[in-house]
Amino acid sequence: MPENKPLSAPQKALRKLGLVRDVDLALHLPLRYEDETRLTPLKAARDGDNVQFEATVVSQSLTHGPRKQLVVVVDDGTQTCTLRFFNVYPSQQKALAVGQRLRIRGEVQGGFMGRTLMHPHYQQAGGPLPSALTPVYPTSAGLPQAYLRKAVLSGLSRAVRAGAFEETVPADMAVPGVWPLLQSVHFLHNPTPDVSLAQLEDRTHPAWQRLKAEELLAQQLSQAQSKQERAALRAPVLPIQSQAQALPAQLLAALPFELTAAQRRVVEEIARDLARPVPMHRLLQGDVGSGKTVVAALAAAQCMAAGKQCALMAPTEILAEQHFRKLIGWLEPLLLPQGLRVAWLTGSQKKKERQQMQALIASGEAALVVGTHAVIQEQVQFKSLALAIIDEQHRFGVAQRLALRSKTVEEASDGAPAEPHLLMMSATPIPRTLAMSYYADLDVSTIDALPPGRTPVVTKVVSDTRREEIIERIRLQVAQGRQVYWVCPLIEESEALDLSNATETHALLSAALANGSAEAPQVGLLHSRMNEADKKQVMAAFTSGAMAVLVSTTVIEVGVDVPNASLMVIDHAERFGLSQLHQLRGRVGRGAVASACVLMYSTGEHGRLSETARERLRAMVETHDGFEIARRDLEIRGPGEFLGARQSGAPLLRFADLDTDQDWLDWARRCAPLMLSRHPDKAQQHLSRWLGGKSDYLKA
Ligand code: ADP
Ligand code: MG
Repeated sequence: MPENKPLSAPQKALRKLGLVRDVDLALHLPLRYEDETRLTPLKAARDGDNVQFEATVVSQSLTHGPRKQLVVVVDDGTQTCTLRFFNVYPSQQKALAVGQRLRIRGEVQGGFMGRTLMHPHYQQAGGPLPSALTPVYPTSAGLPQAYLRKAVLSGLSRAVRAGAFEETVPADMAVPGVWPLLQSVHFLHNPTPDVSLAQLEDRTHPAWQRLKAEELLAQQLSQAQSKQERAALRAPVLPIQSQAQALPAQLLAALPFELTAAQRRVVEEIARDLARPVPMHRLLQGDVGSGKTVVAALAAAQCMAAGKQCALMAPTEILAEQHFRKLIGWLEPLLLPQGLRVAWLTGSQKKKERQQMQALIASGEAALVVGTHAVIQEQVQFKSLALAIIDEQHRFGVAQRLALRSKTVEEASDGAPAEPHLLMMSATPIPRTLAMSYYADLDVSTIDALPPGRTPVVTKVVSDTRREEIIERIRLQVAQGRQVYWVCPLIEESEALDLSNATETHALLSAALANGSAEAPQVGLLHSRMNEADKKQVMAAFTSGAMAVLVSTTVIEVGVDVPNASLMVIDHAERFGLSQLHQLRGRVGRGAVASACVLMYSTGEHGRLSETARERLRAMVETHDGFEIARRDLEIRGPGEFLGARQSGAPLLRFADLDTDQDWLDWARRCAPLMLSRHPDKAQQHLSRWLGGKSDYLKA
């Protein structure tokens, strides 16, 4: 067979699902099963049952009207029922002709027109019945179930022959009584008809239990392995310096506030890591407004006090600039006397300025570099990068984090490869179960209390039919010298629509607030299509207080700190994710003034909100606690969204469910390090079965 024969559409679809190796196919397990092993008399079927029966066509007709419908009545000798089809093909009419005897499968619906099956499966009656439940596999467009089923089963038999399902869990770690792996895999593809469908479908069956345990073990192994690999690396030692003239102490003394107890605790956790010769990989999590920036600044100070460089990266230019201003304000007065500076790097910078900055970085004169992705570009050469800080870490890709880690630092004295320390910050707390599974390789520090003096934000959910009232409210706030955010919906399908929506809102608010007066308050507009210079100008006007109202389409750009803002209006709040809503709300209530967040929803053409939208809005009213929000968000959306960059490369857990399989997770967490140290070959075999070439991503 020629090597480069083009792939057929189903083959391409298989690739896309990640089904490349035989073992990948064999581990592509059914989503559910259909019971085609028996026939049920219609009379014995209850409404809502999924049944299979054989019956003869007694009539066929086509209805006309807005939608053509093929209506076929069949009789199985115990009862008659109606089959309805919306897409009518001549071949179908022939197959369903009066007198044909058919085997039919589908859900029986009761109703006042008599019992009906909508679009049932049918084939000629007769022929043997399958002896096992029929698996239904997760598939995608262009990949017919029958093709996939065949590919999976042949992959399975090749993988089994190649020994891919040899036991890897060492005997002393195995849980007594669980099913062997090979038997479990076989069974899940070909379950015997006597098994309870419910046990299979809710995945409590022992075969499922075994697969979940295997999967969790693979995940924990990969994390334990990356943790071990990192422990073998070297990083610059950044000693803790507590003397009053050392940079961290000077910074603390210069701050206009005292650290909270929670901030002091995480500062210490980070400081201890930095003083070790092993690269830190620490996630700093803390709710919006909990004061992560100052913690980052203190870590940077410890790094600079050791004569090394620190880089701080933020996902957008506006956020990066905000950090830059803050850090310059805090640190440059302390750095300048030592001849050190803070550099600034972004994509939109003029070439000349960027070259100047790069020179400062290469010479080491810039002790701290703040910027966007530009910081990790190849041309940027550090003299002695020892600490990299990533804000809003989930907005960065795996590749970017890997690039940051690969920025060379001086080799350790023993010649071992050295990497900078890594501090990742996130305002979306990771629920505990996720931290224990997906982030098991990271150390986590948590700021669990807000600085004092914040007033809680009052949250209101209102229909957008009350837009007028809300504009009135804005007018009142503005009249009192307060500032207001208005966030427009994200319309994913169309950036253009997005924009027109924001532009309209902007025009509407400008007109409504001007109200004919000469001293009209300034209303600004910020959207994703604007260039960086314009964005900056708008942000500067809002930050300075000159602009009273900011209409914005982009959620990220609102990641700013304007304590005078007291009202946040979120238009079409039903379209935002829960964590996003919480982040947005966190933009107000930063000062001492009473603040409010208005979640304005629109029920659209359906006339009502979806259940999940309602849950999200309810959660926002019920709690302000970022951890509780994160927990509920996990409940509503599943883990995918939390993993940010990890989700792009790391396989999510497909079978295990962290809610119900906590015991297996605990088992896997205990086994993984032992297995790596005592049975390294088995561990590798296990990893390669489950992760193949994908495990690299987990280390980012
Ligand atoms: P986030 O964790 O969301 O990044 P920031 O670091 O932007 O939060 O801090 C929010 C605001 O709180 C900033 O204005 C910051 O200067 C202020 N802040 C931080 N720590 C304290 C503290 N201990 N006491 C009072 N204000 C603080
Ligand atoms: Mg922040």
